[in-house]
Amino acid sequence: MDITAIIDSLNDAQRQAVSAPARAMLVLAGAGSGKTRVLVHRIAWLIKIEHIAPHNILAVTFTNKAAKEMRGRVEDLLNISARSMWIGTFHGLAHRFLRQHNEEAKLPSTFQVIDSDDQLRLIKRLMKSMQIDDKRWPAKQIVWFINAQKDEGRRAKDIPETQDLYLKVQLSIYRAYEELCARSGLVDFAELLLKAHETLRDNAELLAFYRDRFKQVHVDEFQDTNTIQYAWLRLLTDGQDNLFVVGDDDQSIYGWRGAKIENMFNFQKHYPNHQLIRLEQNYRSTGNILKASNALIACNEGRMGKELHTDSGEGDLISLYAAFNEQDEAYFVVERIRQWVAEGHSRADVAILYRSNAQSRQFEEKLMATGTPYRVYGGLRFFDRLEIKNALAYLYLMAHKDNDAAFERIINTPTRGVGAKTLETIRELAKRDNLTLWAAMVELIRTEHFSPRASNALKSFAVLINKLIKASEGLELYEQVKLVVEDSGLLAFHKKEKGDKGEARAENLEELVNAARQFEYDAESAEGASELDVFLAHAALESGDAQGDEFEDCVQLMTLHSAKGLEFPMVFMVGLEEGLFPSQQSVDDPGRLEEERRLCYVGMTRAMRLLYMSYAESRRLYGKENYPRPSRFLKEIPAEQLQEIRVRANVTKPVATVKPKMGTVALGSSGRYKLGQRVRHVKFGEGVVLQVDGEGTQERVQINFASAGMKWLMLSYAKLEVL
Ligand code: ATP
Ligand code: MG
Repeated sequence: MDITAIIDSLNDAQRQAVSAPARAMLVLAGAGSGKTRVLVHRIAWLIKIEHIAPHNILAVTFTNKAAKEMRGRVEDLLNISARSMWIGTFHGLAHRFLRQHNEEAKLPSTFQVIDSDDQLRLIKRLMKSMQIDDKRWPAKQIVWFINAQKDEGRRAKDIPETQDLYLKVQLSIYRAYEELCARSGLVDFAELLLKAHETLRDNAELLAFYRDRFKQVHVDEFQDTNTIQYAWLRLLTDGQDNLFVVGDDDQSIYGWRGAKIENMFNFQKHYPNHQLIRLEQNYRSTGNILKASNALIACNEGRMGKELHTDSGEGDLISLYAAFNEQDEAYFVVERIRQWVAEGHSRADVAILYRSNAQSRQFEEKLMATGTPYRVYGGLRFFDRLEIKNALAYLYLMAHKDNDAAFERIINTPTRGVGAKTLETIRELAKRDNLTLWAAMVELIRTEHFSPRASNALKSFAVLINKLIKASEGLELYEQVKLVVEDSGLLAFHKKEKGDKGEARAENLEELVNAARQFEYDAESAEGASELDVFLAHAALESGDAQGDEFEDCVQLMTLHSAKGLEFPMVFMVGLEEGLFPSQQSVDDPGRLEEERRLCYVGMTRAMRLLYMSYAESRRLYGKENYPRPSRFLKEIPAEQLQEIRVRANVTKPVATVKPKMGTVALGSSGRYKLGQRVRHVKFGEGVVLQVDGEGTQERVQINFASAGMKWLMLSYAKLEVL
């Protein structure tokens, strides 16, 4: 193997970075300029040319997938096994380190890593034993607090005592949680990083060993490192100038989770001998995609500043689709994918990227309906999600009291004080007398077997279920689901949780109501099964089958966050609406808004050849009908790079600033709405009909509202009054 393979396929700047003498290096460059490629080739260079052994190399990337790929690419380049190379995520490497040095870390050799769900459960249990009210101090918020402290490298003892009651309580829980974890040998995600840092910091011998061992330390996506991660890197490399990082300040998207974009500046201060290399050629995307994303990100202030150009041609314009509503949007996307596949392309070349997990359902259903294999990354499929399963379990149990699995799932969800021992007794009786769990519970209540407290908890559960059954009589399916989501306490339970997960869970529950509303019950094919039962079966089937496996050719679905570092020939960015993307929480906060814009930049720059962006004129999301405005990001993209998609020849584009040409007006079939007809809408007030389009349930009208501007409305949804 000669060096040409390592060097040949690089441009001058990349080559310079790859072959630099061992020293601190910052490769600062925009998306698709070959940063990750430089890292891979750098590692190959060190092994092949500098004769550094693979086990002397440390490389940190962002995801397990990226780590696997990096290792594979080094192995391919060199035709060797790179097993002994330390390459992985920060968490993965910290774990490996702690396993090897558990004694120095003062951890039992059997220590257990707990995930964030386990962590939350633990905190809840702890708070209960401390008699801290979970309503006043939501456990989710406590977890958030503890992890944020750990990410900053602070133990409970490092936080000064305070008179602030709120902080005081949080601190006391943090302290107790630390003790509990130490006693039981439990390590949460944030603890992995903190512990690895402390162990290295406080053991001079160990530190000396690793500083000597790792001849060069590499980091991809450096802009998203947090304080403790950077501190750990510094321990290993400080004074040795052997930290090689690549990153892009314009792609920093984890500020909300503690990432410090400042680390890019800190690096330059802490490693004064560093070399800075900029890569300015983009190899990933066409000219139009690049121009559009450059223009978008230029709207941010305080950037480090970068230029990007490409030699590949202009390519297609970015397609912009204004959907009538979220279903139309999904329909459009899935149709385009079908065409693409029919032309002989592969499904794996296509990615659908969205801002929020709850958006995936529409696409999943349409893909499923057309038999298109797909895969959802970085998030559970909709019906597999914990909160959705919980809500469905209520519906199951209401319909079938003998459903023991459903019983188990919700007997104490949301928590109502049914302890493990109580549940165990119920299980025992059920087993002994061959009863369902429900029946066993009723029996134990009747015979006053339990203490009043346990007994009351069970009674409240039984009463709740019976009440729900009664209240749901005669209701539409979606009303039943709504009733359950709200009256079971699940919605309130998740809403109370602090942080993005609780919010996402509450949103998903509201989205479930939406799913039930759209569910089409065909009495004939149901063979006598009730609508609820058919709906439940639909949910169960959807969560199991039809999910493509790793080796199948699948359309890729993921959030914008999890798309970082990846690339696809064809990309759909959906839901570009104010309040969704940029998210509602960010619109009033300039800092967060800039992070949203960076996220948009990340999304757009995933596309190699074809980029579709879409928004819906009306969106039913989280159980509410919204009429959002198109995302401001769309306006920041130069018009020359955009082409509006027209699905029907006679539909003009619904852009607020453009007056439609009257000659293109098409009149729909209902005849109720004519050009110039004055109407009133409950929310938008008075307006004038400009166009009518479509038929039946798809019939829609374009109206110019005096105060709200131009809107397309679906007639089957919109309640319009003819004036
Ligand atoms: P991101 O910021 O999105 O992580 P990146 O800067 O890491 O992007 P890479 O993923 O390394 O960019 O490269 C983008 C694409 O360009 C890849 O397909 C890569 O193989 C290709 N590429 C990079 N450099 C070259 C080059 N010199 N010649 C040909 N192709 C290249
Ligand atoms: Mg990369």
